[in-house]
Amino acid sequence: MSIFQRFGNKPSGASDVTVLMRFLTQGGAAVEVTKVERPDRPYQWRCLGCDREEDTSYSDTARSEANKHATSCRAMPKSARA
Ligand SMILES: [Zn+2]
Repeated sequence: MSIFQRFGNKPSGASDVTVLMRFLTQGGAAVEVTKVERPDRPYQWRCLGCDREEDTSYSDTARSEANKHATSCRAMPKSARA
């Protein structure tokens, strides 16, 4: 069950994948931290506003980088029609 199904608070522009955590950019877009099934660099963060993303080996690194990006990114959520 994804966090969105549990809490029913899916933000505009967020994906349907299960995420470990989300941060809010200065423009209102979401930055998601996810874990993917692969042996090398399994943690990823992705900004759903500006599409910047990075893969990392550690969840702590993904969390801190995602939070740092959200603090400075001014991207707004993409339109559902885009
Ligand atoms: Zn961004």
